[in-house]
Amino acid sequence: MSFDQLDSALAERRAARLYRRRRTLDSAQGPQVRVDGRDYLAFCSNDYLGLANHPEVVNAFQQAANEYGVGGGASHLVNGHSRVHQQLEEALAEFTGRPRALLFSTGYMANIGAVNALIGKGDAVFEDRLNHASLLDAGLLSGARFQRYLHNDADSLVARLSKTDAVRKLVVTDGVFSMDGDCADLPALCTAAEKHGAWVMVDDAHGFGCLGDTGGGCVEAMGLTMEQVPVLVGTLGKAFGTGGAFVAGSETLIETLIQFARPYIYTTAMPPAVAAATLASLQLITSGQERRAQLARLIARFRQGARELGFELMDSDTPIQPILVGPSDCALALSEALERQGIFVSAIRPPTVPEGSARLRVTLSAAHSDEQVDRLLDGLDRVREVLA
Ligand SMILES: *Cc1c(COP(=O)(O)O)cnc(C)c1O
Repeated sequence: MSFDQLDSALAERRAARLYRRRRTLDSAQGPQVRVDGRDYLAFCSNDYLGLANHPEVVNAFQQAANEYGVGGGASHLVNGHSRVHQQLEEALAEFTGRPRALLFSTGYMANIGAVNALIGKGDAVFEDRLNHASLLDAGLLSGARFQRYLHNDADSLVARLSKTDAVRKLVVTDGVFSMDGDCADLPALCTAAEKHGAWVMVDDAHGFGCLGDTGGGCVEAMGLTMEQVPVLVGTLGKAFGTGGAFVAGSETLIETLIQFARPYIYTTAMPPAVAAATLASLQLITSGQERRAQLARLIARFRQGARELGFELMDSDTPIQPILVGPSDCALALSEALERQGIFVSAIRPPTVPEGSARLRVTLSAAHSDEQVDRLLDGLDRVREVLA
């Protein structure tokens, strides 16, 4: 048995400068990380509020490990659903202002599970073409008629909605787009969906914690109701700083997921201590106005500085501040040049982003200081010639 065909596919990837290599961290997440034995100032984590290594979150995790041990032990439907999971679900329901919330072990699984519990063969699913891979995979796997509409374009969505005669129709979008940092035009998308009797599902992995007065994400910031966005997904591995995900919605939605979402049913519950840590980070998020204000200041500082240096920024006022480069080798070269100066920013290449739109995905955190952002700008100034 030989793997020659696999080897040639790997070689092709290498030749296209699309090969992925993992870096090994020897520190917690934070502005300062130790990677492969060297210290870096990092701008690529999704730990937007600096909660992944917050003492209160760590302490909640440790206390819960003393009480519940480490392993989740079984699926939620067997005997893995602990008191602290239940408390977190109730807290997330209250946080989102919805009757119920349901925990999943990862955001990828929440998306696969929710889409596939709601639609199947004979139905239709409509996705923004820049949706996160987990949403696209979920739609493709469902067996429903799969259509992509132009990025954030409600007219393009309407053109597709008005041609379908499917009974169940699901419109799926990122809340904040993960690789661009812009927000979905939810009011327009929701109006289009309502007119055509379609459900709307929003995955706000990058909005929760960062947007809205209490960190409730896009839906809170834009003042949308559960009638407009009946299926709301949040992930816990980003601003929450822990891990896992949740879906929030009506009693009927959550019971449907418990009965029919296979990635919910056939997997081990997240470790209870992760749920306990998330309860602590949820408190820090809801009272996190100062962290969000600091983040906004850093975003403004970075955007102004990068503009002055002549970099092409994207239409984003979130902590995701990509610098569009274009060719993959250019993006890699830029990332490597920054790395030589002790600054860690990852290059994002196809197929994660469309062909020809490789970029440096700069992300900011409330844990960064003004001086650290200035160091990044300084570093960018010095590597500018790589782009020319
Ligand atoms: C990160 C991310 C996910 C996946 O969440 P995990 O918990 O990391 O599996 C899903 N959707 C979006 C938009 C994401 O950015």
